[in-house]
Amino acid sequence: MMTSLGNVLLTRTFRRLLKGIVWVFCFVAVFGLISAYALYKTSEVISAETRPATDHFIRIRTHLGEGFAAMRTRLSGAPCSHEFIEQMRRIAYRPDGYNEFLYVPGGVVQCTSAAVALAAPVDLGEPDIRSEDGRDLSYWVDRKLDFLGIPGAIGSVVASGPFGAVIPPQEITLNWSDWLEAEVALVAPDGTFSHRLGVPGIYEQAIEHGDGLRLTEGKIFQTMCDQFGLHCFSIRADIVKLAAREKVLLGLMVAAAILLASWATTLISRLASKYWSFEARFRRNLDAASIICTYQPILNLRTGEIAGCEVLARWRDVDGSVVMPYKFIPLVERDGIGLRFTELLAERAFDELSTHVPANRPMRVSFNIFPSILNSQDLAQVFSNFLSVPDRFDLAVEIIESDEMPANAQQEIESLRHVGIKTYIDDFGTGYSNMQNLAALSVDGVKLDRAFAMAPDNSMMAQMLRHAIEMIASTGHSIVVEGVETAERLELLRGLPHPIDYVQGYYISRPLDIHGFTAFLANWGKVSTDMPAIPQARFAV
Ligand code: C2E
Ligand code: CA
Repeated sequence: MMTSLGNVLLTRTFRRLLKGIVWVFCFVAVFGLISAYALYKTSEVISAETRPATDHFIRIRTHLGEGFAAMRTRLSGAPCSHEFIEQMRRIAYRPDGYNEFLYVPGGVVQCTSAAVALAAPVDLGEPDIRSEDGRDLSYWVDRKLDFLGIPGAIGSVVASGPFGAVIPPQEITLNWSDWLEAEVALVAPDGTFSHRLGVPGIYEQAIEHGDGLRLTEGKIFQTMCDQFGLHCFSIRADIVKLAAREKVLLGLMVAAAILLASWATTLISRLASKYWSFEARFRRNLDAASIICTYQPILNLRTGEIAGCEVLARWRDVDGSVVMPYKFIPLVERDGIGLRFTELLAERAFDELSTHVPANRPMRVSFNIFPSILNSQDLAQVFSNFLSVPDRFDLAVEIIESDEMPANAQQEIESLRHVGIKTYIDDFGTGYSNMQNLAALSVDGVKLDRAFAMAPDNSMMAQMLRHAIEMIASTGHSIVVEGVETAERLELLRGLPHPIDYVQGYYISRPLDIHGFTAFLANWGKVSTDMPAIPQARFAV
């Protein structure tokens, strides 16, 4: 499961697809944020544009309240008496007030401040809004007001108790933008409403989508009511029209969203690839389960037997692929985790070798170590399981020689020999290795760099092979020649005047997994004077 997921995650196509998705997501997010801000700003514009109208209705309501309060306290004459009407007129003579007051007990107009005497009481009928449900006012909306002596007049009557006032039709001129429409509705407690001003139908549409600010079908709806919930003001803003008018702004918004989305995508994909880079994956997932041991057989050229093996590390990536050491060994070195790494490898190698190689088959096992971890105490601990069965395993470490060879290298090498670990200088003849070092360090042997044995016939390197061997042999060290890829090279090595102890190379076998290695051991015939067929290296890793 993990493997197939890793496989998918590592593919270039998937990462490209992911990048595309992230871009779209960022674009929508950024554009959404900008739009939300624009919407907020638009609603501010709407509020500013509609404020005069809402203020107007609040003013009406306030003045009505003041007028009715005055009538309740100042009308002392008998209803509809001369004195009563005089008093009503005086109240009506108020700045910004209503100049038409009525005496309208039970919805029947008895007298008015303008028309002193009515020919007969005028029954207004059922009010459109009753003075119940906590409201103190009753409304008769858009009634014929001929009884006032103004033929054809239409207006609304508002009553508080027996007192009434006439509200003439309101005219509010607003500096509307073409994308903004509004309606004022007079709303009864039961929710029924009468259109008062503006474009009929907006209030109904607006409350269909709930209170407050709403975005539906490309239109913004907003309803605001006065404090009495009586006059409700609904607006409908057409975003398409607004966008068409604000093309430049819209263009800028899209451009900003594209730029920000691209920037965010680059940032996110940089972070993601950092997280998903080989280095990060290796650091995150390096554990006992991800380490793979391979064993490259080492041939004892003197006896023709397989002396043992060099343990070479591999690492299993999250997609299940096997990673070669040139990719991760530099990381192990850079991160200074060589000791831990060697410990994991040694544990696994011991498990595999002690389980699969017959107990009566003694074996030389070689591990690679960095000079930086050349510490006999640490290494004795790391290889304690191998060292606990000395009849079974003959342990060696191959030290990659470098300029970082610790000052006390000689001491450590001797201590290692003491605890039963042989030391070899690895890749001798290239890099930092030199004869001076070799003479100074009492290592058990030298591994000649594979470049010598692998060099093409007649090349300078191939000619140097013989000299290098002579030179090492003269120091008395045991020699391992690795990189033997052909029968001819093996023959050449066997014919040298200075006998070589061990050889290693693809001609004998590639590094194998534990099953390949045990099968190889089982099939191995002695390399006698007439070279036998080398068994096919199966299960090479
Ligand atoms: P090395 O110690 O020189 O190991 C020998 C390398 O030569 C191995 O490569 C092996 O597969 C390759 N080799 C052996 N015979 C032949 C041959 O006939 N022809 C060719 N072309 N190659 C041959 P590998 O396994 O890729 O390891 C590369 C290097 O990685 C090793 O070089 C060693 O320096 C390092 N390494 C591997 N495992 C470990 C480890 O556990 N710890 C440390 N510190 N380094 C390791
Ligand atoms: Ca080696």
